[in-house]
Amino acid sequence: MIDVARIRNDFPILSRRVNGKPLVYLDNAATTQKPNAVIDALTHYYRNTNANIHRGVHTLAAEAERDYDAARAKVARFINAPQESSVIFTRNTTEAVNLAAYGWAREFLKPGDEIIVTVMEHHSNYVPWQLVMQDTGATLKIVDIADDGTLRLDEYAKLITPRTRLVCVTHASNVLGTVNPVRQMADLAHKVDAKILVDGAQAAPHMPVDVQGLDCDFYAFSAHKMLGPTGIGVLYGKDEVLRTMRPFLAGGDMIREVKRDTSSWNVLPYKYEAGTPNIADTIAFGTAIDYLNGVGMPEVRAHEIEITRYVLDTLSHFRGLTIYGPRDAAARGGTVSFNLDGIHPHDLGTVLDHAGIAIRAGHHCAQPLMRRLGCVATARASFYLYNTREEVDALAEALREAQALFKRTGTPQKTGIS
Ligand code: PMP
Repeated sequence: MIDVARIRNDFPILSRRVNGKPLVYLDNAATTQKPNAVIDALTHYYRNTNANIHRGVHTLAAEAERDYDAARAKVARFINAPQESSVIFTRNTTEAVNLAAYGWAREFLKPGDEIIVTVMEHHSNYVPWQLVMQDTGATLKIVDIADDGTLRLDEYAKLITPRTRLVCVTHASNVLGTVNPVRQMADLAHKVDAKILVDGAQAAPHMPVDVQGLDCDFYAFSAHKMLGPTGIGVLYGKDEVLRTMRPFLAGGDMIREVKRDTSSWNVLPYKYEAGTPNIADTIAFGTAIDYLNGVGMPEVRAHEIEITRYVLDTLSHFRGLTIYGPRDAAARGGTVSFNLDGIHPHDLGTVLDHAGIAIRAGHHCAQPLMRRLGCVATARASFYLYNTREEVDALAEALREAQALFKRTGTPQKTGIS
């Protein structure tokens, strides 16, 4: 078991007060807080080693490049990539998915080809494929969920055909918490020679990830959801896939030679990293990975299962509360979406904020899923390695107070939630 009290001491923001109450930060699916080590890595870089990398001949440039390369090596090890050159740095998950959509899908898909997505995808792993569809003539097929919030694998197996060229699936849902059977899905995709892209934004921060074990062709995730800074993300790609793709962004660093009318491309990973990269944030991302490794990813996962079990158990005693997603904590992530009868999630979010509790309310960039669930919005509490049972109790207490308040004031429901 991890020492949560000691971990909390590493996060300065967790000791602040919000609206006169101790902050209870339960919006980790949106972004996570940063430990001192990550904050210090940023300032250390700008105070001591700031320089542009690649071809620099002076000491600062060499040090910055060394630390930048070290971060790539840390990411590669963290996800068990077979080589560092399979780790492409992007701005975030969204850009990583778009890189695959531009570099691979627009290059290789043609009319009649099929892309399979799931109904639980974040818009970042949904809208790029709509645009690919419009640009290439490929068609989109959507895998449904069962009523318990798990993916309909039986339906997925039926939707796969020899025309399937790409499967896009989230490893863990940012609404339901569902962890999807990615390896099984990859095996089925590969049987028909399709590629599989996994959105790891809600999984890489929370559980050990092995891209070789998953056998995925692409894996995308964001540093800011795993204790790192904003502005840096990753697209992992299999070497043989990355080699065949077209560059997404063109400019400095991504070329080998520029002739009058044509150019040739740099080696991987630089072929997909045009321009001056986000050096400081990348280095601090490496520090975030060091921090997570220090705690241990199996331990992070075990803590989240334990706290999620406690959340599900606590919330299940509420009258008029609907929880979306699987009830088995071991089969899901620590993101818990719910609605309280008669209270719009936005109103609930505002009331909880008065109690110092940060949750998120809305469609969570998953409108197809909201429609499937029959609602327009949910409240969402999402947990991470620094959250405690006491914070779950504080959430429950604030929900009770919100229920009492809305009962008294009789504020009409504005959700359209069915
Ligand atoms: N996919 C999932 C499952 C997410 O939860 C998010 C962030 N909410 C994203 C993609 C997009 O991440 P980013 O905004 O960092 O690109």
